Amino acid sequence: MSGTAQIGVTGLAVMGRNLARNFARNGYTVALHNRTNARTRELVESFGDEGSFVPTESAEEFVAALERPRRLMIMVKAGAPTDAVIEEFAPLLEPGDQIIDGGNAHFEDTRRRERELRERGIHFVGVGVSGGEEGALHGPSIMPGGSPESYDTLGPMLERIAAKAPDGTPCTTHIGPDGAGHFVKMVHNGIEYADMQLIAEAYHLLRSVAGYSPEKIAETFREWNTGRLDSYLIEITAEVLAHTDPVTGKPFVDVVADRAEQKGTGRWTVQIALDLGVPVSGIAEAVFARSLSGHIDLREASQSLPGPTPQPLDEADAARFAAQVEQALYASKIVSYTQGFHQIRAGGDTYDWNIDLGSVAAIWRAGCIIRAAFLDRIRTAFDARADLPSLLSDKQFAEEIGAAQDDWRAVVATAARQGVPTPGFSAALAYYDALRARRLPAALTQAQRDFFGAHTYRRTDREGSFHTLWGGDR
Ligand code: NAP
Repeated sequence: MSGTAQIGVTGLAVMGRNLARNFARNGYTVALHNRTNARTRELVESFGDEGSFVPTESAEEFVAALERPRRLMIMVKAGAPTDAVIEEFAPLLEPGDQIIDGGNAHFEDTRRRERELRERGIHFVGVGVSGGEEGALHGPSIMPGGSPESYDTLGPMLERIAAKAPDGTPCTTHIGPDGAGHFVKMVHNGIEYADMQLIAEAYHLLRSVAGYSPEKIAETFREWNTGRLDSYLIEITAEVLAHTDPVTGKPFVDVVADRAEQKGTGRWTVQIALDLGVPVSGIAEAVFARSLSGHIDLREASQSLPGPTPQPLDEADAARFAAQVEQALYASKIVSYTQGFHQIRAGGDTYDWNIDLGSVAAIWRAGCIIRAAFLDRIRTAFDARADLPSLLSDKQFAEEIGAAQDDWRAVVATAARQGVPTPGFSAALAYYDALRARRLPAALTQAQRDFFGAHTYRRTDREGSFHTLWGGDR
C-alpha cells in the first residue's frame, strides 16, 4: 500500500517543523513523525490549516503514508541520533526510496551512510540547510548531495521551498554526489565564523580606537550595509548594537558575557582544511578567537600584562579611521571567501565531486546566514572562469583589494600599536602578502629541515632533489 504524502519529515523540533510547514505551504502533502508524538500533535494543532499534513505516530505508519518512491527527510540531532533514526526506517523502505538528512552531519558520516544505504538500494541524500529557523520556514539556502537520480525528483521540490535570489533563481542546486552537500554546508559555516569575527574586530576597533558608542557603530554599520558590504550579518549587527538591555538600560552588547560558543562546524572546517592542506587562516583565527574568549582563567591571569590603552581619536580622525576600517573589513572578507572557495575546490578534487563554484556562490545569495550582495560578484567571477585558481586571481577582486590595501595595513598597524587584537584582519593581510611575495622564507624552513632531518630540498637553478652534508658532529 502506498500513501499520498510526497515527502515525510521526521524530527519536528524548530528546523524540522518549519521545513515541514514550508513544504506544506508550497502545496506538498507532508507526512509528519517525531520520536515524541506530542510534537507532531502540537504542529498539527498550531499549523494544520497551512496545508496538507498526515500526522503519524509510528515508524510503520509514517512510511505507509508516503507515496512511492518514498522521500523521507530526517531533521534530528546530528551524530548518533541520525544513525539510530536511519536504522529504524531503512528496514521499512524499498529500493529506489530516498532518505534525506537535512541535519548538520559531518560529510564523512554522510559518505559512510550513502555507501551503506546504496548497498541496500536506498538513495541517501545529505542536504546542507542554512538560514536557521526563519530560513527553514520562509526559504533556506539548500545544499543537496546524493545521486543525480535522487535530485531528479527531489530537486524540483527543494527548488520550490528554497529562498529565491534577487534575480528569482532558487537557492539550491545539486552540489555533487554523497557528502558534497554537507561538505559545502560545513565550509559555509566556516566562512560564517570568519565573517562574524571580522565584523566583531571592526566593532572593537570602532569602539576602542575611534571611541564610538554602540549606537554610533550601529549607524556606521547601517551605512556600510548600503554599499559593497551589504549583507545579512552586517544588517543584524546594526540591530544588535542599537538594542538596549531592558533590565539595565545599558547597550545590550555591554551586558552580554564576552564568551562566544560554538557547535562544531567551524572547527570541522579547519580540521578538514588541515587534512586537505588548504590554508584557511581567517576561518582558523575565527574559531580560535571563540576558544580564547572562553578561557576565563587564562584571561583573568593575564590582565596585568603590559600594553597600550587605546586613546580615542577626535571626531574628524575617528571618521577617517572608520572609513579605513571599512576597507580593512572588505579586504579581509575577500580573503575569507578566497580561502573558503579554495577549500571547496580542494574537497571537490579530493572526493571527485566536480563542484561548480559559481553555482555554490549563486545559492548563497539568499536564504543563508552569509547571504550578501558580494556573492553575486563571486558567482560572476567563477562563471567567467570556472578554473580560476583563486578569487584573488579575478581582475576585479584583485583591483579592489589592491585599492583597499593601504588602509587595511594602516588599520592593522594601528590595532597593533593600540593593543587591540585583530587576528582576523591580521591573518588575512598576512595571507595576501604571502601570495604576493616573490620569495617566501620557506626556503630557510626547508634548509633547516634538510639540516636536522636530511629531508632534502629542491633548488632554484636545477632540477632534482638535493641533500647537503652539514658540518659538525651530527
Ligand atoms: P535538535 O535540537 O538538533 O534535535 C531535536 C530533534 O531531534 C527532536 O525532534 C528530537 O526528538 C530528535 N531526536 C534527538 N535524538 C533522537 C533520537 N535518538 N531518535 C530520534 N529522534 C531524536 O533540532 P533542530 O535545532 O531543529 O535541528 C535539527 C537538525 O538540523 C540538527 O541536525 C541541526 O544541527 C540541523 N540544523 C539546525 C539549524 C538551526 O538553526 N537550529 C540550522 C541548520 C541545520 P524528540 O522531540 O523526541 O526529543
